[in-house]
Amino acid sequence: MEGLGDCVDTHCHLWNLKRFKYDWPTPDMAIYKDFNAEDLKRQIEKGPVKEVIYVQCLNNSPEETRWVAGLAKEFPFIKGIIAGLDPSSRKFEEELVALKKECPQLVGVRFILEFYVIPEAKKYLTSPEFIQGLRVLAKHDLTFDLLLRPPIMEAALVAAKAVPEVRMVVDHLAKPMIKEGLIDPWKNRLEAMARCPNLYCKLSGLVNEAERKFWRASDFIPYVEHAVSVFGPDRVMFGSDWPVCEEQGADHKRVLEILATILRPKLSDEEMHKVFSANAKKFYKI
Ligand SMILES: [Zn+2]
Repeated sequence: MEGLGDCVDTHCHLWNLKRFKYDWPTPDMAIYKDFNAEDLKRQIEKGPVKEVIYVQCLNNSPEETRWVAGLAKEFPFIKGIIAGLDPSSRKFEEELVALKKECPQLVGVRFILEFYVIPEAKKYLTSPEFIQGLRVLAKHDLTFDLLLRPPIMEAALVAAKAVPEVRMVVDHLAKPMIKEGLIDPWKNRLEAMARCPNLYCKLSGLVNEAERKFWRASDFIPYVEHAVSVFGPDRVMFGSDWPVCEEQGADHKRVLEILATILRPKLSDEEMHKVFSANAKKFYKI
């Protein structure tokens, strides 16, 4: 992709099936195999991405963070790590501070709620314990990645409003129902979230919400355009969600191209630079 300058990818994963036990990916999936830092290097080395943020796959796993911090020494393009800690845990601050000391690349936290049923996920997001955990993150100048789906967007907004001093980012545009061709009620909920100034949005994960095998790049246009229009070019950022995108037959280059092609006619060069680099650096302080 020419003319983008050096880019930051805010959303990559690695996994090692022997080292850790993952609830996801499952053995029926094409991506149920190891993806190591060498594979990621090969994916990005001919493209514009020079720095990546690693995002946790495992909840309650400081071991995963330590493993990736070790890899980052050998592969310095791994600039930041999002750790899988539980902000609602009583030991959260203690664990966070200890892990940050050991792993200086730690820039934020994510806690996956995909295995919670909707009422439980809502209860979690609005609980005093979780909100207290967000205050701890703000105190240490660290971020929180929100992995959402439309039914729990409003609960996440309650938490974001309760702690205006914490920087939070909505992963994968909160997973709109692209496969079903639905834009409501996601559309209004995302707009409500965008009114909250401490919330940002990752333009990531789209191919995995689309129709398997039969998706087209044009499927994503209304969702990306809406996210950029409500958050504005200062609070959106590119993420590949590699290697998850491989499950849909899209490699890293293809995902980057799809987003750049959608945004190029809409944004100035300076705004493109913000989306593909500057906003991520400002948000994660890398
Ligand atoms: Zn992901």
